[in-house]
Amino acid sequence: MARVFNFSAGPAVLPEEVLAQAREEMLDWRGSGMSVMEMSHRGKEFESIIAKAEADLRSLLAIPSNYKVLFLQGGASLQFSMIPQNLMGTTGKADYIHTGEWAKKAIAEAKRFGAVNVAATSEDRSFSYVPQQSAWKSDPNAAYVHITTNETIGGIEYHWVPDTGSIPLVADMSSHILSRPIDVSRYGLIYAGAQKNIGPAGLVIVIVREDLIGRAPAGTPSMLDYKVMADNGSMYNTPPTYSVYIAGLVFEWLQRQSGLAGIEQHNRAKAGLLYDVLDRGGLYASPVDKADRSLMNVPFRLRDEKLDEQFLKEAKTSSLIQLKGHRSVGGMRASIYNAMPMAGVRALVDFMGEFERRHG
Ligand SMILES: *Cc1c(COP(=O)(O)O)cnc(C)c1O
Repeated sequence: MARVFNFSAGPAVLPEEVLAQAREEMLDWRGSGMSVMEMSHRGKEFESIIAKAEADLRSLLAIPSNYKVLFLQGGASLQFSMIPQNLMGTTGKADYIHTGEWAKKAIAEAKRFGAVNVAATSEDRSFSYVPQQSAWKSDPNAAYVHITTNETIGGIEYHWVPDTGSIPLVADMSSHILSRPIDVSRYGLIYAGAQKNIGPAGLVIVIVREDLIGRAPAGTPSMLDYKVMADNGSMYNTPPTYSVYIAGLVFEWLQRQSGLAGIEQHNRAKAGLLYDVLDRGGLYASPVDKADRSLMNVPFRLRDEKLDEQFLKEAKTSSLIQLKGHRSVGGMRASIYNAMPMAGVRALVDFMGEFERRHG
């Protein structure tokens, strides 16, 4: 068996230990005689799996007791609709901060539900930075403020938390949740698609303050109502059972990495190695402002873009795959989520140095 170093933005690398454990438990989960995939979601085995996953996530993120954790489906993209459906009702207005491709999609969807005020945008410089809060043109009557705390495509990250006073702050953390400790109490709602830092695609985790549940207007479809989902412990219908199980194994793996403080150290070391190469001023460059660079998604350019294809081809030969940048920005992108080992980033950095000597 030969595993590659997979720099995909998502679905993305998972910890090898987790995959091995899932293989080990595939045919017979802990003496049950069944695969997790074959279990009733109402049975005691699966009840224990989802309860443990939630408890571990709560402990990792230190989630306060007045927040519900929901395991839902439809990916982060369905939250682009569920959030305005459930939260916009009070005023019919919401503020959005436009920082790139994912914010853009969230904004487009929210516009179907009410009045969206784009309070700030970094479009003027190709989404290469996070607009400071002092420059936001906020609406005091907004029902909530939506931010995308890590733009997976542009590679920018909020390294600070906006202060929105009594207006709930809603954050799409899909591509950096669990990469470092956060203060959940600063947010009204946090959501994250699983396939970046948690587990299989399709699952989305929503962490929502209890007072924001139950605000959906009459006529809201059951599957789109946080209250229905919360009242039924994420089991109004059959939840994505196997995805929840894998997420649970990832949470246990994170605990073995000394939790989020431990993984943050690891992530900072990995990103530092890579950004150092980009800042050396040779063949490579980062398009993102230093203060706002993502620890998870690192876009970069070759000074001569005619070398792009050669770079990708040679990288692949060295088992470094999925380094092509998103089609909307071009260049390269290395996604170095929690599960990317230091050895993978070292291999990439070594390859980049060697490629530069040959082609620079
Ligand atoms: C990947 C991603 C999404 C979309 O996730 P889906 O599960 O495909 O719906 C949304 N926001 C961010 C920041 C992402 O990285």
